[in-house]
Amino acid sequence: MRGRALLVACLMLVTAAACGEEAGPSDSLVARAVASNKLTIGIRFDQPGLSKRTMDGRYVGFDVDVAKYVASELGVDEDHITWHDSRPSSRETDITSGITDLMVATYSITEKRKQVVAFAGPYFDTGQDLLVRLRSTDITGPENLNGRKLCAVGGTTSAEQVRDKFAQAVQLVEYPRYQDCVTALLAGQVDAVTTDDVILAGYVAQNPELLRVVGKPFSKEKYGVGLRKDDTEGKAAVAKAIQKMISSGEWLESLNRNIGPSGYRIPPPPQVTEK
Ligand code: GLU
Repeated sequence: MRGRALLVACLMLVTAAACGEEAGPSDSLVARAVASNKLTIGIRFDQPGLSKRTMDGRYVGFDVDVAKYVASELGVDEDHITWHDSRPSSRETDITSGITDLMVATYSITEKRKQVVAFAGPYFDTGQDLLVRLRSTDITGPENLNGRKLCAVGGTTSAEQVRDKFAQAVQLVEYPRYQDCVTALLAGQVDAVTTDDVILAGYVAQNPELLRVVGKPFSKEKYGVGLRKDDTEGKAAVAKAIQKMISSGEWLESLNRNIGPSGYRIPPPPQVTEK
């Protein structure tokens, strides 16, 4: 009788793997994508060139292309992706709480973050830099920001780096999103904005007559796709998809299309090491 009840319970379950001894494999992103044919992916909605929600509700940019490519390799086409606006400071919790299946949001691979989430990649190498008003010719790097206001976004490696290395000299102003920092810079409320140079290039492309990037990166950032920490199967599948995007030429095509117009020098593709 007990055996029969178990069998019925098993038949009622959606995934066959759930009937086995371990719940592990069925919990992977790979199985979830197949079973549900949908994915929720965390991106930014306000980063031109990387990921932006357009006025007519489309999502465009290099991160969006990486997300679509990975989803498609997992068997989910773009019409079945739900885009989630993940703030920089909520990327870890958006993954651990299950709000998002994947995070493709200029998300630097760090040892600290690896305690909480897993990364597949890297899929892009960049570095932290400064965005200033075109006329601020005297700002040549973080070392001569003394006494000035520097805007960074909370929960980012950029803010952490400023706090660790330049806190004595600068006045750090933190906002939840980059667009807030850029608006404050244009309004003269802060003197510089700091984050990865590829992000800053997108804002310059929107305001070339008002803004410039200093152009002396002072950190190394490697972007990875974030997913649940214990999902080794998912991590391997995402890494394989990134590798394929690079070798197929789509990686470079997307960068030329999305980042190229800003004049940003496209770096060579990184070695995918987190698999
Ligand atoms: N890539 C850095 C980070 O992950 C800064 C840019 C961002 O906010 O994504 O924190």
